[in-house]
Amino acid sequence: MPQSARIIQLVTRPNGAPKPGDFRIADIPLPDPGPGEVLLQMLWLSLDPYMRGRISDARSYAAPTPLGEAPPTEAVARVIVSNDPALAAGDTVVVYDQWRDHAVRKAADCRKLDPTLAPVQTALGVLGMPGRTAYTGLKHIGKPKPGETLVVGAATGAVGGLVGQIARLQGARTVGIAGGAEKCLYATETLGFDACLDRHQPDLAARLAEACPNGIDVYFELTGGDILAAVLPLLNPFARIPVCGTIASYNATTPPPGPDQLPALMRLILTRSLTVRGFIVGEFAADTPEFEAAMSNWLNEGVVAYREAISQGIESMVPAFIGMLEGQNFGKTLVKLA
Ligand code: NDP
Repeated sequence: MPQSARIIQLVTRPNGAPKPGDFRIADIPLPDPGPGEVLLQMLWLSLDPYMRGRISDARSYAAPTPLGEAPPTEAVARVIVSNDPALAAGDTVVVYDQWRDHAVRKAADCRKLDPTLAPVQTALGVLGMPGRTAYTGLKHIGKPKPGETLVVGAATGAVGGLVGQIARLQGARTVGIAGGAEKCLYATETLGFDACLDRHQPDLAARLAEACPNGIDVYFELTGGDILAAVLPLLNPFARIPVCGTIASYNATTPPPGPDQLPALMRLILTRSLTVRGFIVGEFAADTPEFEAAMSNWLNEGVVAYREAISQGIESMVPAFIGMLEGQNFGKTLVKLA
């Protein structure tokens, strides 16, 4: 039985893009599990863009990770020792945890998984938080209708890839934007986007206008930045914008150059009767059973595809995190520990 856990501690708050030196790996002692507790061996750790916010101390919807602590993550873990009748050694669970390889937790904080239903790591991706984000953001805010045009950036990522596929299943025409020709090919060939544009090529605004001859009815905001700027002039009256993420600015240390765009944006919201609505996925937790049933059906029918960007070992956590923020991931970012 392990006596210590490997843990990735936040050493300094990144200024701009995170650097390897902002973190360090440490071994800390593991207590014995008490009554109602389990000893967990992490099998998979999730990497998600929201973690960039957690290692910053800027005001947000959740408290920052204290220096010296490990950032949060959702993990799939194996129960090694259980002192609770609800779980047995050998069970597989999902737990909201930290960047570490072992932990002692309350059994009540763990959700048991049936490993025969789907690959267990999908509980962190297509069948987990990113999938729920795509599903509920479309259901409650985006509301695509047959024949409408939906645009999403990060279109091959954990959330964007599912936004495009769910909207297509609901009858929308879907236009993705992604980083690089290979991702764009995957978006059209495998994810079924009607078009996908490479954000690294010039004239994005002109190419997007060409790809959206009837304007844009739903813009699922994951990125902000140049993509948002290209989308705004094309929005149709009564367009809906679920504001889910703005990854283009997560590492920014100064406001973008140029004139203040806020008055023009407010005027656009007014004159085109736009719905611009931010959300954090936990708001729609009540939809979890409905989402899981719908996504499981789509996966079983083979009408939804997903892709995972897997790195191996806890040492790969920081490089994979830094890479994800730069677009080096191709699909849901996961770290496999065991
Ligand atoms: P992804 O798997 O999509 O990975 C991040 C991707 O962002 C990169 O692969 C890259 O894709 C893209 N990206 C990075 N920098 C830029 C940039 N400057 N401009 C445009 N795109 C960029 O991550 P997720 O699917 O997990 O998350 C997507 C977004 O959704 C994030 O903003 C995240 O914060 C948000 N989110 C919000 C939630 C909520 O509750 N509101 C819940 C989950 C996610 P590429 O190189 O292909 O463009």
